[in-house]
Amino acid sequence: MEEWNREVGDLIDLHSHTYYSDGTSSPQELVEIALEARLEALSITDHDTFEGFDAAVPIARDRGLKLIRGIELSTRYHTTSVHLLGYFIGYEPSAEFVSWLGELQETRRDRNRRLIAKLREYGVAVTLEEVEKKGRSLTGRPHFARVMVEKGYVPDMEAAFREYLDESARAYVERHDPQLSESIGRLRQAGGIPSLAHPVRIFRNDYAKVDALIGEMIPHGLSAIEVYHSDHKARDVKHYLETANRYGLAITGGSDFHGANKPRIHLGTGYGHNLTIPHQVLDDLMGAQ
Ligand code: AMP
Ligand code: FE
Ligand code: FE
Ligand code: ZN
Repeated sequence: MEEWNREVGDLIDLHSHTYYSDGTSSPQELVEIALEARLEALSITDHDTFEGFDAAVPIARDRGLKLIRGIELSTRYHTTSVHLLGYFIGYEPSAEFVSWLGELQETRRDRNRRLIAKLREYGVAVTLEEVEKKGRSLTGRPHFARVMVEKGYVPDMEAAFREYLDESARAYVERHDPQLSESIGRLRQAGGIPSLAHPVRIFRNDYAKVDALIGEMIPHGLSAIEVYHSDHKARDVKHYLETANRYGLAITGGSDFHGANKPRIHLGTGYGHNLTIPHQVLDDLMGAQ
């Protein structure tokens, strides 16, 4: 483990996206924003890819920022979509895991093709070429939203999600996501620490149901939950902190920064600066393997 520069600052942020998934910042820009925000440690947790992290490694090293390899996976628990974070602290992901990521990227491409067809049924003409141009190797729904705004189908990205792209909206198409339990197992086998992302988004934040899900996933290897997040109100932080303590789970936290795709979310300090992630979180996580 490399030493990192505690003088940079004492904030940490363990959830962020670059333009290799659905953020808008390059890895270099993200490192610069992290330094401006006086972060001591940053995890890049792009959806389904390590490309942004890999590109940021030499830049962060030069600039004295501690960078943690992370990933965010879209998984399924019965009919519910559940996001899962994975942190690789002190371990490189196995070749088997990286090859599985390739399969997940293929399910995303397949979803995108079906999403284009479904949008067309509703009179929204976007092409694969247009949406792919918005991202790099990976195309997500925020890229669709951008193209839809630019072509005048909707006034803003929020409307694109509300009317067409959200799970509850008319053009939503399912992706063939892996099971949550399988994904937890894959992360563990690969040397990663699985953390349940933004639990408030699961089961409309029904605490009893989410807590039961967490309990059910512990035998599969779930080892952490994301207690601090831009979407979490003070009562959610309190609740999920208690849940983590009750189950003996580690705690993670981050802003879920996506750059201009979610302009009100600030790196390090979250939605309207509602976040402070205790430094202890990182120390505990490093001891959680
Ligand atoms: P995808 O991975 O392509 O299915 O896209 C999921 C991403 O879309 C999430 O990580 C968010 O960045 C974004 N997203 C999902 N739902 C919404 C929403 N209702 N409003 C804005 N952004 C959303
Ligand atoms: Fe995203
Ligand atoms: Fe997420
Ligand atoms: Zn995220």
